[in-house]
Amino acid sequence: METTLRGVGVSHGVAIGEVRHMGTAVLEPPAKQIPAEEAEREQGRARQAVEAVAADLNARGNLAGGEAQAVLEAQAMIAQDPELMADVDRRIAVGSTAERGVYDAFSHYRELLAGAGEYMAGRVADLDDVRNRIVARLLGVPMPGVPDSDKPYVLIARDLAPADTALLDPALVLGFVTEEGGPTSHSAILARALGVPAVVALPGAGELPEGKVIAVDGSTGEIFVEPTAEKRAELEKAAEERKAALAASSGPGATSDGHKVPLLANVGGPADVPAAVEAGAEGVGLFRTEFLFLDDSKKAPSEEKQVEAYRKVLEAFPEGRVVVRVLDAGADKPLDFLTPADEPNPALGVRGLRTLLENPEVMRTQLTALAKASEGLPVYLEVMAPMVADRADAKAFADACRAAGLQAKFGAMVEIPSAALRARSVLQEVEFLSIGTNDLAQYTFAADRQVGAVSRLQDPWQPALLDLVALSAEAAKAEGKSCGVCGEAASDPLLACVLTGLGVTSLSMGAASIPYVRATLAKYTLAQCERAAAAARAAESAEEARAAAQAVLSGE
Ligand code: PEP
Ligand code: MG
Repeated sequence: METTLRGVGVSHGVAIGEVRHMGTAVLEPPAKQIPAEEAEREQGRARQAVEAVAADLNARGNLAGGEAQAVLEAQAMIAQDPELMADVDRRIAVGSTAERGVYDAFSHYRELLAGAGEYMAGRVADLDDVRNRIVARLLGVPMPGVPDSDKPYVLIARDLAPADTALLDPALVLGFVTEEGGPTSHSAILARALGVPAVVALPGAGELPEGKVIAVDGSTGEIFVEPTAEKRAELEKAAEERKAALAASSGPGATSDGHKVPLLANVGGPADVPAAVEAGAEGVGLFRTEFLFLDDSKKAPSEEKQVEAYRKVLEAFPEGRVVVRVLDAGADKPLDFLTPADEPNPALGVRGLRTLLENPEVMRTQLTALAKASEGLPVYLEVMAPMVADRADAKAFADACRAAGLQAKFGAMVEIPSAALRARSVLQEVEFLSIGTNDLAQYTFAADRQVGAVSRLQDPWQPALLDLVALSAEAAKAEGKSCGVCGEAASDPLLACVLTGLGVTSLSMGAASIPYVRATLAKYTLAQCERAAAAARAAESAEEARAAAQAVLSGE
C-alpha cells in the first residue's frame, strides 16, 4: 500500500526507483559461543564470504582501471591472506561465530599494523574496509560506503559528506533522501550540482527497506513508498510538463516587464563549467575555490596550478561576469594545514577571510594567480571575500587585492549579520555585496547548517533573514552598487522572485536550478515581486512567508 512521508525538498524533479542505503559503519558482532559441531559450517561461511568479497573487489578494480584497480586488487589480496584466514579458522574452532572470528582476527592484525611505523599504519583503513565488507556480507546488511549496484537507484543516507560523494557514480544515482541535513547541507548542494531530485531532514528514512520502490518529489519534499501506478503516472506527467515549460524558457534572466536580473552559476571548478554554459548561465556568481585546495592536505596548490584552473573558468565566459571567492577554509570546510584543530566552536572561529588574514601568503598567491589568469581576457573579473564581519575586514581584503595588482572589482560576502546591519559601512571599502544566505541563516538563527534537527531555522524564507537581505540590498542601492545572492536561497524559484522584489540585483545558483528560476521570474512583473516580498517580510514564520508570497503571485 502506498504511504507518504514528508521531508524538506531541496532539489527539484521527480525520481522513481529502488532504495539503496549508504552502508554505515559495521557494528561489532556479539561474542557468542557456538557448539563444536557448528564450527565446520561457520568456517565454510567465513571462507565463502571472503571469496565473494575478494571477487567483488577484483571485479570493481577491473571496471575502474588505473590506480583504483591497484588499490582494489591489493584489498582483495588482504581479504584472502592465508595467515589471516588460518587465524579466522582457529577462532571459529574454539567457539566463535564466522562474523566474530573474522572481526577478531582482523582486529588482531590491525593492532600489529598500527604499531608498525607510519607506512604500515596507513594501511589500517584498507584492512578495516575489507573487514567491514566481509562482516557485512556475513550479517546480511548493506556494504559500508556507496552502494554497489549496476542499476540506477535512489540513495538513502544519514547525511552525505563531500568525501562520500566523490565516490558516487552520477549515472546511477536517481535522487537522494537523507535523514539529516538542511536546505544548505552538502547533500542538498551536491544534489543540485548533479541535477537530481533530493529530500533532506526526513527522520526515519534509514528504515525504508532496501530494494523497495519509492518516488521522490524534490519540489514538495514528499516521498511515496510503493507508489501506485496512478501516482507514478501523475508524478511523471507533472515532471514532463515542468521540463517542457523549462525548455521553452531561454535568454537572460528578467521579470515579465523586462527588469533584468542576471542569472549566474555557482561552480566549484572547471568541471562544472559545461553544465553552467548549457543552462544558459550569464556568468559565474560564485566560484568556490576551496575545491582546488582539497587535493593536498599539507599545502596550498601552486600558483601555476591555480592560474590554470582560474583561466579555464574565465575563458568559458568571454564577455560575462565571473565572481571568484577567495579560499573559504574552516568550520564545515576544514583544511589540515590552515584550520586550527583545537577550536571549541569552529563555525565561530578562524575561518573564511579570518584564515586568510592570518595566512597572508596563501591569499597573496591566490590573488596573484587570479591577476595572471585574467591577463588579456575581456571577462569582467570580480573577486570577493567570504565571512566579512565589518568595514575593517572589507578594507583588509581590498588592500590585499590592490597590493596583488588585481584588475577586478572587489566585493564582500554578507554571511554574518553584522555585515548586513552595517552594509553601508562595508560598502565604503568594496564595490559590491554578495549575500551568502546559507551562512547568513546559520549565524542569524544560531543554527548549525549541518544539523537536520534545526533545519526549520535554516529555512531561507525566515522573515528575519529576508529583513537582512533587504537591508543589504537597500544599502547597495543607496551607494549605487550591486548586491547579489549566491546562497542556496537563489535556487528556489519562488524565493528568487521575492529576492528580486527585495532589490537583489543578481542571482547565482547551481546550474540545474537556472531554468526553473528563469521560467518563474519571467512570469511576474517587478511590482508583483515587490508586493510578494513585502507580504513575505510581514509574515511571522517561514511557512507563512512562503504562503503569503505565493498568494500574491498567484493573484489570490
Ligand atoms: C553561503 O554561505 O551562502 C555561501 C554561498 O557559501 P558556502 O555555502 O560555500 O559557505
Ligand atoms: Mg558561506
